[in-house]
Amino acid sequence: MPRFLSRRKFFGKSGQALMATGAALSGGAFAEAHGKSAPSAKGVDYYRKLGVTPFINAAGTYTILSASTMPEEVQAAIAEASKYPVQIEELHVAAGEYLARRLRCEAALVTAGAASALTLGTAACITVGNDPAIISIPTDMSGLKNEVIVQKAHRYDYDHALRNCGIRFVEVETLADYEAAFNDRTVMAHFFNAAEHGAISREDWVRVAHQHGVPCFNDAAADVPPIANLWNYTQMGFDLVTFSGGKGIRGPQCTGLLLGRKDLIAAAVKNNSPYSNTVGRGMKVAKEEIIGLVAAVDWLLAQDEQAMQAEFQRRAERIAQHLKRLPSVETKIFVPPVANQVPHLLITYDPQHIEITGREVMVKLRQGEPRIELNPATGGGSASAGLQSGEHTIVVGVWMMEPGEDLIVARRLREVLREATRA
Ligand SMILES: *Cc1c(COP(=O)(O)O)cnc(C)c1O
Repeated sequence: MPRFLSRRKFFGKSGQALMATGAALSGGAFAEAHGKSAPSAKGVDYYRKLGVTPFINAAGTYTILSASTMPEEVQAAIAEASKYPVQIEELHVAAGEYLARRLRCEAALVTAGAASALTLGTAACITVGNDPAIISIPTDMSGLKNEVIVQKAHRYDYDHALRNCGIRFVEVETLADYEAAFNDRTVMAHFFNAAEHGAISREDWVRVAHQHGVPCFNDAAADVPPIANLWNYTQMGFDLVTFSGGKGIRGPQCTGLLLGRKDLIAAAVKNNSPYSNTVGRGMKVAKEEIIGLVAAVDWLLAQDEQAMQAEFQRRAERIAQHLKRLPSVETKIFVPPVANQVPHLLITYDPQHIEITGREVMVKLRQGEPRIELNPATGGGSASAGLQSGEHTIVVGVWMMEPGEDLIVARRLREVLREATRA
């Protein structure tokens, strides 16, 4: 564990939350009735035991970097839920009804991530469009309707989650193409909410699909905040919408939300674990994760969005302030338009003055103490969400930092850039 981060400091809040839960539970109704005692053990620091060093997250909600951490309330709800067995079908139904009420849609399902929601939502559309289909998906699709219409510019790496259902994509570019693409094999129209290109608007996408009686799905996995997006797209008419549970919502990393039409969610449920002969059987969410996502949605809906955004802005400004006296350094705060819609700090400099590439800065921060992970767009790395980058650009994501970590990142960046400054 890095020096500055004692175990207590890094995990202190969660540790306290766990202990508080334990104390509360020993007086809890179930525990009293059943004579269960609260666990007294403090969690072992398995990261340390395994030699895996945590880092300061100056990147954002990237799955490869474990994305987000869960607020204390969420961790405590999970710890509580983990103690008691429940009926999984009953829990799924109750959680779905609760989430649908809170998120202003007809129905909801907790899935094993947005990618799983893409698979289950697609399976649901196939199931509704063909009967019976569930046990055939994805390997025995002959004779089944399986076409999914998508804009060419909305093809992406998450396509695989749809292709897992044995679908065939039909690509369109113009509105006229789209209108002509529907036929009796069409089961779904798919939209990628944060796509940077594509000529057909969300409204047209929904309208034309509905003219043909075909359900449309919007993948908005990384598009919270704004919090209101959690109902904006279902209310716009999309029949299915997914969000990652472990990105801006800050629930368990392995969860997602599938929101939408009652009959489609019911069909998604039938294609999912705990049922064995289904495409979704490997996409199990445990009771802890279901409860964790419900608690995270409650947590998020209780936040003051403006105050959160203002805090992110202050962090970015504080880091910029620390770097402003370095030669040629310029900073800009950028809020991506759809996905990851929070302030990011973009730092550029002239390599004539500061002789280091963004990639080299990234490696130095990763190897330093404490470890720091910069946004992957740094140094011209594959940028997402409209983040502009280049060989001599450093991108700092501030929204997944713990309070105070912005200063540590600022000092370390100044140190590395100063060392590379020409005398
Ligand atoms: C992150 C992401 C996903 C996958 O989400 P998981 O919750 O990690 O499964 C799907 N689609 C888009 C656009 C994403 O950004």
